[in-house]
Amino acid sequence: MSENIEQKCLAKGVKLTDQRKIIAKVMSESNDHPDVDELYNRVSKIDPKISIATVYRTVKLFEESGILAKHDFKGGKARYEELNEGHHDHLIDVKSGEIIEFVDEEIEKLQEKIADKYGYRLVDHKLELYGVKKKS
Ligand SMILES: [Zn+2]
Repeated sequence: MSENIEQKCLAKGVKLTDQRKIIAKVMSESNDHPDVDELYNRVSKIDPKISIATVYRTVKLFEESGILAKHDFKGGKARYEELNEGHHDHLIDVKSGEIIEFVDEEIEKLQEKIADKYGYRLVDHKLELYGVKKKS
């Protein structure tokens, strides 16, 4: 199992108040890329005294500390996930907002090929696919 956000904060010297600890815990347990409103909903159930402003500030702090990744998927609010070593891309259901994570070796290689063609060595990339579910 990977380290949780609380451990990462400790490792990076990010100070954790009790409220931040709750936000870190909820975020660690969320695998669905929540936005701040959704995260606030979850956090409120544990501690109703936490304000949405605190959630915003904490998420921003975690993002700036390299603990969370922020995604600005088009047509929606910024969504967050724990930044882990493993790379993956996203397929976004434009109707439900559901997010599917995937890694495709062919796409990875193809992107390197394109960068190479223009004389570049690829250091990072971001791929977002948007779709609607086919009727079966
Ligand atoms: Zn993801």
